[in-house]
Amino acid sequence: MQQRTKLLVGSLASSLGIIALFAGISFTSALDLARHRIPSLLHEHNQRLIETLPKQPSLEQIQAMLPHHGTRSDSLSIIDTQGRLLGITDKHPGTPSPLVYIDSEYLLAASSGYTTIDDNEYIWVTTPIPDSPYTIVNTHHNARVGLREFMKHIGVPIGFAALISIWLSTWGAMVISSLFRRLNEQRAQLEHQAHHDPLTGLPNRDALSNTIDTTIAHLDSSKQTLAVCMIDLHQFKEINDSLGHHCGDELLRQVAIRLSKALQTPDQAGRFYGNKFAIMLTNAGTATIDAIAGTLLGTLENAFEIDGRYLYIRGTLGIALYPEHAVTAPALLQKAEAAIFQARDNTQYAAIFRTLDNKGAAERLGLINDLRNALRDGQLELHYQPKLDLRSRHIIGAEALARWTHPQHGAIPPDQFIEIAERTGLIKELTRWVLETAVQQCAQCHASGKAMKISANLSAINLHDDELVPLIASLLKQHKLPAQNLVVEITETAMMADPARAKEQLRKLDVLGVSISIDDFGTGYSSLGHLRQLPVDEIKIDKSFVMDMIASEDDASIVRATIGLAHDLGLEVVAEGVEDEAILKQLSDMGCDIAQGYYIARPMPAADFIAMLEKTDDLAEDKPAAVSR
Ligand code: C2E
Ligand code: CA
Ligand code: CA
Repeated sequence: MQQRTKLLVGSLASSLGIIALFAGISFTSALDLARHRIPSLLHEHNQRLIETLPKQPSLEQIQAMLPHHGTRSDSLSIIDTQGRLLGITDKHPGTPSPLVYIDSEYLLAASSGYTTIDDNEYIWVTTPIPDSPYTIVNTHHNARVGLREFMKHIGVPIGFAALISIWLSTWGAMVISSLFRRLNEQRAQLEHQAHHDPLTGLPNRDALSNTIDTTIAHLDSSKQTLAVCMIDLHQFKEINDSLGHHCGDELLRQVAIRLSKALQTPDQAGRFYGNKFAIMLTNAGTATIDAIAGTLLGTLENAFEIDGRYLYIRGTLGIALYPEHAVTAPALLQKAEAAIFQARDNTQYAAIFRTLDNKGAAERLGLINDLRNALRDGQLELHYQPKLDLRSRHIIGAEALARWTHPQHGAIPPDQFIEIAERTGLIKELTRWVLETAVQQCAQCHASGKAMKISANLSAINLHDDELVPLIASLLKQHKLPAQNLVVEITETAMMADPARAKEQLRKLDVLGVSISIDDFGTGYSSLGHLRQLPVDEIKIDKSFVMDMIASEDDASIVRATIGLAHDLGLEVVAEGVEDEAILKQLSDMGCDIAQGYYIARPMPAADFIAMLEKTDDLAEDKPAAVSR
């Protein structure tokens, strides 16, 4: 029962109890009053009758007065000094006079008394008549005061009293309960203030530290990990200095809201101090740094609208892992903060805490700045690797692969620069460039009558780019390329880093009509069953299985089983890493749909790819695999 209801019921019950007590007391005092008041009334009545008599009245005069006794008495009698009855006037003739039952000596000695006859009580009062030997006896039938009688007289005031006291007690209960409520609210508010940052409403450093420690206490350190992350907002001081503190405060508030929304439970994020936010991630075991950065730094991606201005801010993310780097909350928070500085030293947007400095950092530092310039200066190029349809033996598409020719270092392998791009956040810009270039070149092919499917690779972090799907939609529209001609390849590891987010983005792409391919299939932990929940169209069996399938029966079995299962789910199967004719033939025999690999063709510049397409058109269907190797 709620406290308010309890109070209400309690006060109503006590007020009803008080009324009942009051009624009981007044009832008994009414009874008592009746017994004492009546004799004196009767006596007064007698006196008045006597006053009507002359002085020294004769017996006859007294007897003549008897019938005029009025309504005050039931019977009026006259007795002499021996108690003999000399006359009686009875209101109810025929009923026995109570005087018959009263001892005459007692009658003369007492001035009043009670006599009970046949369950009826009678009160009698004797009043001697002055200057005469006679006494008047007034007898009154004492009707018992019953509850009904009592209620008739006092019911209305008691009813009113009850109503007033019920109203008073209800009102009192309401006032007290609202007082209690206010007190409770104040207590809760004080408690909230002690554990929360007043500006953002997020848990403060102590509260978050407690949450981390409590979570650690419940973790099984042999199986579960925990990541403590810290975000440092850039240019915060400049914003405060140039736009005023209220803008800085508003920015912190908005960042806090976005962070809370991005997390499963709001108490995972807290304001550490100043422009630093700390976040605890419990399911971080399988997540990559990119996925974590995508989730957390992704919240800063869109502009913040403050005072009619649009502010773009960036942040640096530091990550410390439990139990790898520390086992207590304060130590983890301190390491996460240190990781921010390590990231900054390496011009990275995110870093996991490192005890020793990475040797390649300096070299990479050079490459990071160079990659930024490369994107701007057009040093990147897209190469296309053909995809062969194993039934029709036609080139039906190509995978777009990025190439970077560094002015000093020459060709940098994509495995290297893609990793740098992912770590620094440059991947968003890079992917946009890839998509733009691939769609434009594919549309050119399309326009010249060669229907091609072009595949572009997406990184995990791209799945956190809210502008990606709108960008693809506008590119397809701008270049008039049907959506089914574009395939996006995403590795299963990237997909599983944040399955909910991946699902959401893939759905949007699916709605657009873009095909979705799972890259490097077999290297991650996902099962085909998992993928069933996603709008996937194609899987690409990883080249590590394909390249060795002739020599390794195990790999051949994996490839065969994957083809069978994928077909059962209605998915197309692409095998990459086709390095010789034997692999191509075996894949064909296994019912694989599409093949990609050095045996068919190496990745090549767009012009070479178009030339190759023209050549294969000329060669017709017989030997496409022999072209351009
Ligand atoms: P990937 O997506 O698995 O791309 C296929 C890689 O396998 C390519 O390496 C390709 O040249 C190579 N390959 C193709 N056929 C054969 C073969 O028969 N044998 C062997 N041994 N290798 C073959 P590449 O171009 O060096 O790309 C490496 C990785 O870099 C790609 O792997 C992809 O993960 C990434 N990458 C390349 N371009 C992009 C891009 O534009 N965006 C993103 N996000 N990643 C890219
Ligand atoms: Ca790929
Ligand atoms: Ca691949």
